[in-house]
Order: sequence, then C-alpha cells, then structure tokens
Amino acid sequence: MLDKTNVSFLTKCVHAGNEIDRETGAIRRPLTMANSYRLPEDASNLNWSDSSQLIYTRNTSANQIYLQEKLAALEEGEDCVVLGSGVSALAGVFFTFLDQDSHIICSNVSYIAVYRLLQEYFPAKFGIKTSLVDTANLDEIRKSIQPNTKIIHIETPGNPTTRVSDIEEISKIAKKAGALLTVDSTFASPYLQKPLALGADLVIHSLTKYINGHGDAMGGAVIGRKALIDKIKNQAMVNLGGVISPFNAWMIMRGVVTLPLRMKQHSESALKIAHFLENNPSVRFVAYPGLESHPQHAIATKQMTMFSGVISFGLKADAQTHNRFINALELIIPAVSIGHDESLIVYVGPTDERNHFYPEEFKEGHLRFSVGLESADDIIRDLKQALVQCGLKAE
Ligand SMILES: *Cc1c(COP(=O)(O)O)cnc(C)c1O
Repeated sequence: MLDKTNVSFLTKCVHAGNEIDRETGAIRRPLTMANSYRLPEDASNLNWSDSSQLIYTRNTSANQIYLQEKLAALEEGEDCVVLGSGVSALAGVFFTFLDQDSHIICSNVSYIAVYRLLQEYFPAKFGIKTSLVDTANLDEIRKSIQPNTKIIHIETPGNPTTRVSDIEEISKIAKKAGALLTVDSTFASPYLQKPLALGADLVIHSLTKYINGHGDAMGGAVIGRKALIDKIKNQAMVNLGGVISPFNAWMIMRGVVTLPLRMKQHSESALKIAHFLENNPSVRFVAYPGLESHPQHAIATKQMTMFSGVISFGLKADAQTHNRFINALELIIPAVSIGHDESLIVYVGPTDERNHFYPEEFKEGHLRFSVGLESADDIIRDLKQALVQCGLKAE
C-alpha cells in the first residue's frame, strides 16, 4: 500500500483533501452550496457552536473541510482552519490568543489591516499593548519582550518592503518568553517556506494571493497544532462569523493544485526582472529577497527555497512620473493584491501613514510589483516601453 500522507509536495497539491465522491463516483469531491446539514435524530444535546460537525455552514462546511485537509498537508501541520479572508484569519488569531492587557510584538511594517488592528482597535477596545519593531533585528525583539508577551507576529517576506525575518531564531526567542510565534507566510506560500518546521506555532496565509493564484476568490487559513486551531475555530470562526463561502473554498482547492508550478515560474521571472531593474539606470532602488543586495538575502536563502514574485522598487523620478509610469504599462495592471496570474503594480506615495517605519529608500515613495505568469521577457519589454514613454532611460 502507498502511504498517501508520505508523498511529495507536488503530489499532495493534486491529491490531498480529495476523494472519490461516494454518491456519484465523481473523481472530485463536489461543491456543496448548502447552509444547513441534516441534524442527527436526537439533537437535544448538540453544542450549537460545535465546529467539528456539519451543522450550519458558519460552523464549518464540507468544502471548507476538504481545503483544510489539503492546506494542513502542504504546511505539514496537524490541523488547519480556513476563513473568509486573510484578514479574518489574522484577526482570528489575535482575537483568540490575546487577552485583556496582553502584549504583542509585531513587525513594524506589515499588512495594513494588521497594523490597524494591533495599533488602533485592540489597544483601544481591549487594552492590548503592541510593540511594533523591526523584526529583522533580533535584539529589537529581545528588548521588547515583557512578562505578558503572548504573541510575536512576523510577516516574512513582509508586505511591501520584502523584509525577511529569521523564523528559526525568532522561534527560540518566543519559546523562551512563553509566547506564540505566528508567521504570515502569504508572500512565500507553503511551496517556498515551511514556518512550522522552523519552529513557528501558527502559520497564516491569505489564500486570496498565491494559494488560489488566479485572483478570483478570497480566503484565509491558519495552520498549526490541533489544540491551537480548535481554539481559533471555537472562538473566532463560529462566533465572529468570518466564514468562507463553500464556492470560494472549492475555487481555492482548484487553484492550489498548480501552486508549485506557478511559484517556480513567479520566482524565476521575478529574479530575472529584479536583475534587469537593478542594472537599469532609471531605477533608484530594488528590494527583492533573491538579490544579493537585499539586506536579509542570507536569511532568505536559509529559510526559503526560491524568493517568490514580489519586487519593490523606485524610479529616479518624482511621484507624478511614477504615476505616469504605471499608467503607461500595457501588460502590467495598476491594481492592488499580489500572487495573481497577471502582473500587478501599485504606487505607494510618500504620504503613506506608515512611511516613518519604512527603510530609508522606500520613504520617497515606492512601487510594489507582483510579477505574474506572463513571459518575463514580455514583462521586461513592457517596463522598458513605459520608461521610454516617461522620458526615462530604458537600459
Ligand atoms: C493580502 C495580504 C493579507 C490579507 O489578506 P486578504 O485575503 O486580502 O484579507 C495579509 N497578509 C499579507 C502578507 C497579504 O499580502
């Protein structure tokens, strides 16, 4: 017999969480768009908040369960909870594991909603204390530990700076402090980085990005030990209600099958394009973990197998020219999000409220560029023609 749990990542992407449909013999588990499931004959003792049984789709749905199986297999974690968006997964973790007056240490440049939750809402509503630090600097983390530190939260690579934090070293600090290490690994996906194997307690993904990969469904996931995931399901899913639609879970299940193929292509193209940008006379700076010039390139090389598809860079030009540049692009689309099939670019101007946290070179404004699955040569041609349209040197 072949042990289906002991197969390679590529095989898990295809098979984990899927089975022959018992009713029809279909070789794919079906999409079940139902809000309610038939109750047992005697439901008088049922816990209506139970998330381990199919009762009501906010407690869990069939398609959610299949996707959880697949993602737990890919991250090599015990269990997984899937929610309606990456932010509902992050908020679910913070809501579950922070109590009144707890302290959390978080990357000072992280996803904007994380900043909003931990810097504004949780402190004001629940008395949570937040230290925002540069988590690439281990001493800054050590200095910020307090007796009530419950979580160290990092995002690596970070959005939008591509800053890389050392998961293994930070996990040692967290263990010593009795805190959980939670890692937003959205930029890497489970194909390029395995935070649990490096000592993290929970890994969080926006499924909206690389895992679905096609820019047409939102979702979020948390993976880790069953005892922790059960807590999130009970506290933050059923009762906060950030549940995923069965349809989106089904779409993401379909998207993730090609994750390894896509991540390889995104990473290869991004590295080629990052080199092009780095050698371009009109480019002021490039931040990409795969470049030797990246400040945490050594850590990225240690904990990632490739460097994914997001590049941040700036032109030797003013804000107006940056805007002209992104509007002159023909293939690359000015739109938020990352990890889609198509290339996406956003210009973040110097008035961004978190600007003071950014590395020096980002402060004049920067472009966040999610390299898509088009040919890298075509993308480079597009960048060149847009530079020329802006009166800048293309090479
Ligand atoms: C997009 C993103 C999120 C938020 O995910 P949504 O699915 O948009 O809610 C969280 N973390 C990172 C690193 C992201 O890029």
